[in-house]
Amino acid sequence: MSNSPVRVRFAPSPTGYLHVGGARTALYNYLFAKHHGGEFILRIEDTDQARSTEESMQMQINDLAWLGLKWQEGPDSISLIDVGPHGPYRQSLRLSIYKEHAEKLLADGLAYHCFMTDDEIEVQRKESLRLGKPPQVNSPYRDWPLAKALEHKEKGHKASVRFKVRTKKDHVLPDLVRGEVTFPSDMVGDFVMLRSSGMPVYNFCCAIDDALMKISHVFRAEEHLSNTLRQMMLYEAFHYELPKFGHLSIILGSDRQKLSKRHGATSCFEYAQNGYLPEALNNFVALLGWSSPEAQEILSMEEMINQFSYERLNSSPAVFDEQKLSWVNATHLRALPAEELWRRVEPFLTEAGLVMPKDPAWRERALNTLKTSMTNLKDAVELFRPLNEAPVPVKEDAREVLSWPTTKIVIEAWKTGVEKFNSEYMEESDFLKLQDSIKEGLGVKGKHLFQPVRVAVIGTPQGTELKMLVPLLNKKLLIARAEHVLQHMEKGPT
Ligand code: GLU
Repeated sequence: MSNSPVRVRFAPSPTGYLHVGGARTALYNYLFAKHHGGEFILRIEDTDQARSTEESMQMQINDLAWLGLKWQEGPDSISLIDVGPHGPYRQSLRLSIYKEHAEKLLADGLAYHCFMTDDEIEVQRKESLRLGKPPQVNSPYRDWPLAKALEHKEKGHKASVRFKVRTKKDHVLPDLVRGEVTFPSDMVGDFVMLRSSGMPVYNFCCAIDDALMKISHVFRAEEHLSNTLRQMMLYEAFHYELPKFGHLSIILGSDRQKLSKRHGATSCFEYAQNGYLPEALNNFVALLGWSSPEAQEILSMEEMINQFSYERLNSSPAVFDEQKLSWVNATHLRALPAEELWRRVEPFLTEAGLVMPKDPAWRERALNTLKTSMTNLKDAVELFRPLNEAPVPVKEDAREVLSWPTTKIVIEAWKTGVEKFNSEYMEESDFLKLQDSIKEGLGVKGKHLFQPVRVAVIGTPQGTELKMLVPLLNKKLLIARAEHVLQHMEKGPT
């Protein structure tokens, strides 16, 4: 590694949500920067005006902030105002920089105005394909003197600006992930730098920005490998120092096809909505193409930062395994301190309209009881629903239980037993004792005992075991619920 400071960037195009693949790219760059005490920069590549939106930029920024991948330079996550000495960090605000660079290459004879129309280009493309040649443009304007081209432009003729590919030589990229990659000399023809609208294209902006922002290393998706050749040519033309590149493995779905919407949730936002933890998503995506030297599967951010090195990045495809993600999530979730877990669970409960006791000791007990059944935060909704402080409705599936002749006396005996109880909450053993005493007193046992009690407590014979739930329901609530069921029975089946 050269001695220049480590500066890496994540450069999303704001054309949709942050995809898990994008999150992985951002994470690896972040981990690399942190591991080396370097800087992590966020640059927004929004020169594709037709597809880029402000909304999508904001969403991606929110997702990165949610993942906790803090950047030192780039648009501030809240105000969107640029922070850092190399701004602006949105390409749409750097157009004059690209224009100047294009003018320099035009003046040096390393680029030219090309007046070919789309139709002319298409005819050439078809002809090359017919002859079995790579479909490269062969522009008749390549050797026009600049003055002549400018004059022609003055007259209203539209021109794009193309890079003049001169040397037909193989380019070799020492890729940090793939080893040496050789690009054959004829892989690209004269490529567009500025469209006829004056808008610069991705490869042009990217190379200039990486150079001006003093980016030392670029870890990015495999699909950009073919762009790298064009970028290398631009670096050479500007005499800029080439950063080191590492092209990451592709991510496949369980069917070994490229991961896409067909495979289910693929955006970070969806995972957040579905109750996944950012630390779990980071941990999981880190392992899609990287492995810990200690073969650790559950890692905190700090551990990943300490252990990260590009030598352990794998170039072969990674398979996105939903079940593993669930396991990683459950493991992180269950390890959270109660107070923190509650802070994360609460918005899901509130959203579902559930009201829970405020007492922190109760919350801790409830979480300790129920978190072993939780894979994600959203699971809390159905697990906590029976603990809602409002009366629970008697569910349709209780109908049969309510029709048994002994049900009413069981529920009455249950209610009396609870009323006689001295403290606010029963322990599991108190509950089991009370159930036993009902069995002895009434001679009712098995499902004819257990199911009416379940209906009296949670309105349904299904669900979490009562010995777990009852100690979390206070006496007043238990009595109110039993009364509610008895009243329901009196009214008769509806
Ligand atoms: N803007 C590109 C993308 O979103 C990233 C290019 C790069 O990392 O060089 O795919």
